Amino acid sequence: MANFGNGPVMTPPEATCRCVTCGRPIPLDQAPGRPCESCGPVLGTTEVHYDLSRVHPDFGPPGRGLFRFAALLPVPDPGPRLPLLVGDTPLYDAPRLARRLGVAQVLLKDDGRNPSASLKDRASAVAVAHALALSRPVVAAASTGNAASSLALLAASAGLRAVLFVPADAPPPKVAQMMLAGATVVRVRGTYDQAFDVCALACERFGWYSRNTATNPVLAEGKKTVALEIAQACAWDPPDLVAVGVGDGCVFAALYKGFHELRALGLTPRIPRLVGVQAEGCAPLARAFAEGAATATPLREPSTYADSIRVGVPRDQVKALRAARASNGDLIAVPDDRIREAQRLLAREAGVLAEPAGAAGFAGLLHLAASGRLAARDRVAAVVSGHALKDVAGAMSAVPEQPLDIAPDPATIGSVMDAIGSII
Ligand SMILES: [Zn+2]
Repeated sequence: MANFGNGPVMTPPEATCRCVTCGRPIPLDQAPGRPCESCGPVLGTTEVHYDLSRVHPDFGPPGRGLFRFAALLPVPDPGPRLPLLVGDTPLYDAPRLARRLGVAQVLLKDDGRNPSASLKDRASAVAVAHALALSRPVVAAASTGNAASSLALLAASAGLRAVLFVPADAPPPKVAQMMLAGATVVRVRGTYDQAFDVCALACERFGWYSRNTATNPVLAEGKKTVALEIAQACAWDPPDLVAVGVGDGCVFAALYKGFHELRALGLTPRIPRLVGVQAEGCAPLARAFAEGAATATPLREPSTYADSIRVGVPRDQVKALRAARASNGDLIAVPDDRIREAQRLLAREAGVLAEPAGAAGFAGLLHLAASGRLAARDRVAAVVSGHALKDVAGAMSAVPEQPLDIAPDPATIGSVMDAIGSII
């Protein structure tokens, strides 16, 4: 699959890269892992821009995966691709949940259906395609778990080597994915934020392709395809509100970018209100948004059972805060028990299995409904960003019941009827 040494890379002339704060242009092939030197790593995140007047948005029907959006991706087209199907995940109508929330429609974007079972595959797919185009044989990432397991799998599918830095408490199922895929896994005895800094240093020193969130603008381009798919599935009439869990803020900001580009192209009439949902024990962006601050105050000891959004130093905070404000949306915090409730409801009333962070978006909808902030006419969507089996311990902590243990003896069958008698 790799195409090292096949001549010069043809990046689409429409794709350029600039610092979000000062606008300084940065060559796209040097952008991964390199924030703007003038503005620093927090303010100096970078962003891909296209000459939309030259984009022909003929995306074709769903089914082929996210590279059908190549006109809005910063990788050569035609160019190296992955053999795995990434994106084009289902968008489910969930009428029982709509009744529960008192709204016209609830849509669930089930991104746990990606190859490594999380939305992060969208970013990894575009990053791996970019690394292939740049003939970079080693890709690296720091991750609470999903980005790393995603990169492990997609790099393996393309014949690249992956080096992954994870915090000591990364859920074992995610580490298992990385190990199975043959990645080099470095467990950092510390937090995700510390793992991030170690990985950034290693990429700088060894010249590895950095798939670190926020400091590689290509990642948001992959993540934004979830917005493109939602809008297309709604016949370009997007929902009124879209909610998603927020850690670093990259997925949230990418949703905005996707909807913003669709509106700029004239494909959609408006940008949905975007609601980013954090856990109360780890809500630096929700706090900054409520206070009207330009940046978030770092949280030294982030605490939530939702490991994928346990981020004390949100790396994409400038874009995330901008996305909430520009979409007339919100950044909110909910207690862990609300996220557990959302995990149960998604599974029990829609058949969708979500990991804790993957249920956070719907937990935000529950919160908004409970506080009277959803209208009966509203069409709302939640992005389910990862599968429940990504974190088995987290899933079990959301379940109050225990299995019914019986002996293999006909005499004990009666206890089964006793247990279910109340519901049939
Ligand atoms: Zn700058």
